[in-house]
Amino acid sequence: MSKVYLVAGNANDDVRSVGTKIEALWNAAGLAKLFAPRDLVAVKIHVGEPGTKTFVPAGVVKHWVERVRATGATPFLTDTAVLYKSPRADAVGHMKVARDHGFTFELAGAEFFPADGLTGADEIEVRLEGGNHFETVAIASGIAHARSMLVVSHATGHLATGFGGALKNLGMGCCSRKGKLRQHSGQKPHVEAGACTACGTCAQWCPSDAIEVTDVAIINSDKCIGCGECIAACRDEAVQFDWAVNGKELQERIAEHAAAVVHSKPDRIGYVTVAQRITKDCDCMGLAQSSLLEDIGILASCDPVAIDSAVMSLVQQRAGKGIEQLSGRRHDGTVQLIHAEKLGVGSRDFELVPVNG
Ligand code: SF4
Ligand code: SF4
Repeated sequence: MSKVYLVAGNANDDVRSVGTKIEALWNAAGLAKLFAPRDLVAVKIHVGEPGTKTFVPAGVVKHWVERVRATGATPFLTDTAVLYKSPRADAVGHMKVARDHGFTFELAGAEFFPADGLTGADEIEVRLEGGNHFETVAIASGIAHARSMLVVSHATGHLATGFGGALKNLGMGCCSRKGKLRQHSGQKPHVEAGACTACGTCAQWCPSDAIEVTDVAIINSDKCIGCGECIAACRDEAVQFDWAVNGKELQERIAEHAAAVVHSKPDRIGYVTVAQRITKDCDCMGLAQSSLLEDIGILASCDPVAIDSAVMSLVQQRAGKGIEQLSGRRHDGTVQLIHAEKLGVGSRDFELVPVNG
């Protein structure tokens, strides 16, 4: 059983009171022991897709960054490139969105640095024991090289997994473009002929010579290894892939990527989940969403499975139904927790410890 610490509060709390609560939570959860002087600490955040309003704000992240810095470590804010059409699909656009949403040194206390490089391809293959789907997974190099981490998550429902919290932030959020494609069941991209200008850039970048360009680019799926380079290379957004695969297998694949990250930094990762403005979909949705239930507060733990388990349980208690039902999804979000527990990532059993802030 793992301890999960909870300080009650809502998203409208004033900045000073949030700071007091976060300090109390930090101390109660004993997160300082995870960081050492001169550590490069990846503070894994989600800067929010343009249009969304409910991501964890820079002013809240700043309080956590200050606590990490006080240990003598060097925190940086980070995230990875997305696969879909978005300014967050490459580092230049991602850094602009981060800046637009306040994730600057002045407002958030640290610089934002995409962990997977310019196009989402900077990665390190990390070994995984006991997985159903992978023996190695592709983790963003900036995550792999960081000595320790603070994973700051916003609890939400999720279109494809039912629930998004710490495990999703670790698994999908900390891997390279190739890792994301693999999680989406090894999807192979295809070219939308109407959008293709036959410029040939994708073929130049394809490591498998899987693309032939005549009037349009054509991908040979037998040769394609699903690395996603062509998606990043195409500036005409002609390379697409099928998002249809989801559910149980997707959650297991996410849990396996999360396991590789966790096992690469034993006793060096802390988890903070903001259970406020809990929305139907995650912060990748580029639209303003309303809350599904009243704000709960902020949770902290050294166990990502326990913190996700606690959030799901608290939502059930407060709303009288699970987050999947609240958000109208048919996917059972506990699949990722069960698989992560099996991989030794943490425990679904938790003791909830209230903290006065
Ligand atoms: S995903 Fe990678 S291997 Fe497949 S076509 Fe694109 S660049 Fe080539
Ligand atoms: S980079 Fe895009 S536009 Fe250029 S050939 Fe490839 S798919 Fe077509």
